Amino acid sequence: TIWNLGSINADMIYDVPHLPGAGETLSANRLDRFLGGKGANMSVAGARAGARVAHIGAIGPDGRWARDRLTEYGVDTRWIAEVSDPTGHAIIAVDAEGENNIILFQGANHAITSDQLGQALSSADQGDLIVTQNETNLQVEAAKLGREMGLTVCYAAAPFQADAVRAVLPYLDFLILNEVEAEQLRQATGQGLSELGIEHVIVTLGSKGARYHHKGTTSDFLAYKVQAVDTTGAGDTFTGYVLAGMDRGMPMEQAILQANRAAALMVTRHGTADVIPDLKEVREARFD
Ligand code: ADP
Repeated sequence: TIWNLGSINADMIYDVPHLPGAGETLSANRLDRFLGGKGANMSVAGARAGARVAHIGAIGPDGRWARDRLTEYGVDTRWIAEVSDPTGHAIIAVDAEGENNIILFQGANHAITSDQLGQALSSADQGDLIVTQNETNLQVEAAKLGREMGLTVCYAAAPFQADAVRAVLPYLDFLILNEVEAEQLRQATGQGLSELGIEHVIVTLGSKGARYHHKGTTSDFLAYKVQAVDTTGAGDTFTGYVLAGMDRGMPMEQAILQANRAAALMVTRHGTADVIPDLKEVREARFD
């Protein structure tokens, strides 16, 4: 099982004629609401990849639809609490040229309790994985508890926050981050990725693929060639697929190959959690 302490967001996308200026009132032509948040995306990706995923998180009274959607996608939602804060959300204005601006509100994602975390993990088995990102509270506690319990502790360093990352580093078995975050980490710690003492480190490199650091060696995995239309959620899809592979006991190289295929397919699609490909699609996809 993959235990994911993760964010759940409503992505509210407003189509506007132009981006609003200070003091301006503007009518939107259209509103689409999608399930988002790095945590939710990773849970869906893991479940789509065939793993058992238990999501630990929180929603407000306005977010029941998001929990229902996660359930529909095969995620175990028993450890998602309903709290009085509003569900985390992003208000995204998109103009005719595709330019956007975004207001993020973390809301219920920061109302997860230690009790809730402890209760969830009391059902964990030896060999399970725990994963966190930077969009909830309690990451450090989760990583520490996971380490004490002998779980495989995984962390996606996004969105990057130097203090948060430094605090979880000592507990990690697996770290995944993109190229920009890798550079930020190098600056924050003054150390190279191979000096951190973490067994598995993956840096995703967008259209260049991914690099895997393990026991002093690095291996490169080229990205598949596709026509990219929307790269949102690519990293989360990649991470969910890698975790699912690890959870199944696949060699890391094989898990990365599959994650690379899944993420390549994902960038050919518009949308986030709702369009993450499943294992069958990933296996059957043909790339040049
Ligand atoms: P993030 O979205 O977190 O910044 P990346 O941009 O590094 O992450 O992308 C994550 C993964 O998605 C890459 O490692 C690769 O497998 C895949 N990917 C991203 N962009 C492309 C692309 N243009 N073509 C093919 N694969 C891509």
